[in-house]
Amino acid sequence: MSPYDENNIFAKILRGEIPCDKVYEDDYALAFNDISPQAPVHILVIPKGSYVSIDDFGANASDGEISGFYRAVANIAREKQLPDGGFRVIANTGLNGGQEVPHFHVHILGGTALGPMLTKAA
Ligand code: 5GP
Repeated sequence: MSPYDENNIFAKILRGEIPCDKVYEDDYALAFNDISPQAPVHILVIPKGSYVSIDDFGANASDGEISGFYRAVANIAREKQLPDGGFRVIANTGLNGGQEVPHFHVHILGGTALGPMLTKAA
């Protein structure tokens, strides 16, 4: 696993060095609209701690950080009224997963029928 890069774009957003369109914040998570939305609702949720990926987060975050983060994800989806119609949560991870930003994040996508999960399979 690569070491955490303190200069990744989400670390800068967390430190307030770069603005974001914030939709939610608590002790465990910050959420903001994706700069390049792929659906009517496209929110990124990031933990407050410095974790490269879901692998790093699951291995090294405390139980409180993990439960707080995923409760925040669910709360945001509910605040955006997504559960009734359905929605998708994605954590792109590493090279094969197409992860571009090396600070763990999940995408919350919704507001329309999202279609099949993958457009092409290996
Ligand atoms: P990944 O491929 O790492 O899972 O997704 C990274 C996401 O971050 C992409 O959907 C991209 O549009 C978004 N993104 C990249 N830079 C910024 C930024 O500066 N601000 C916001 N709000 N989103 C960003």
